[in-house]
Amino acid sequence: MKPMFGVVVQPGTTTDQKKTGWRIYRPLYLQEECIGCQACRQCCPEGAVYRIDKKEYDSDLDACKGCGICAEMCPVDDIEMVLEEEGLVEGEEAPL
Ligand code: SF4
Ligand code: SF4
Repeated sequence: MKPMFGVVVQPGTTTDQKKTGWRIYRPLYLQEECIGCQACRQCCPEGAVYRIDKKEYDSDLDACKGCGICAEMCPVDDIEMVLEEEGLVEGEEAPL
C-alpha cells in the first residue's frame, strides 16, 4: 500500500478547519497583566490569536489547537492553559 502523508505548508493554512473536537487544553486569556507585546500572536502556529485592544488579546477557539505555545511565550503569564471542559463558557457544549 502506498503511504499517504499530510503536510501543513504554512502557519495558519488550517484556520478554516475546526479543532475543537480533539483539543484537550484551551488557552484562557486572562487580560489582566497583558503588556501588548504580541508574542502570543506572533508565535501561534494557527494564526488563531487576535487583538481586541492594545493590551487585550484572545484566541479564536475554532482555530486554536491547544498547543500551549502562546501561554509558554507570554512574558507576564497572562495566558493560562486549562482543560477543555473547565474552560467552557455559558451555552457552549463539551467537545465529543
Ligand atoms: S494554544 Fe496554540 S494554537 Fe491555540 S492560540 Fe495558543 S499558540 Fe495558538
Ligand atoms: S504574549 Fe501575553 S503580554 Fe504579550 S500580547 Fe500576548 S497576552 Fe499580552
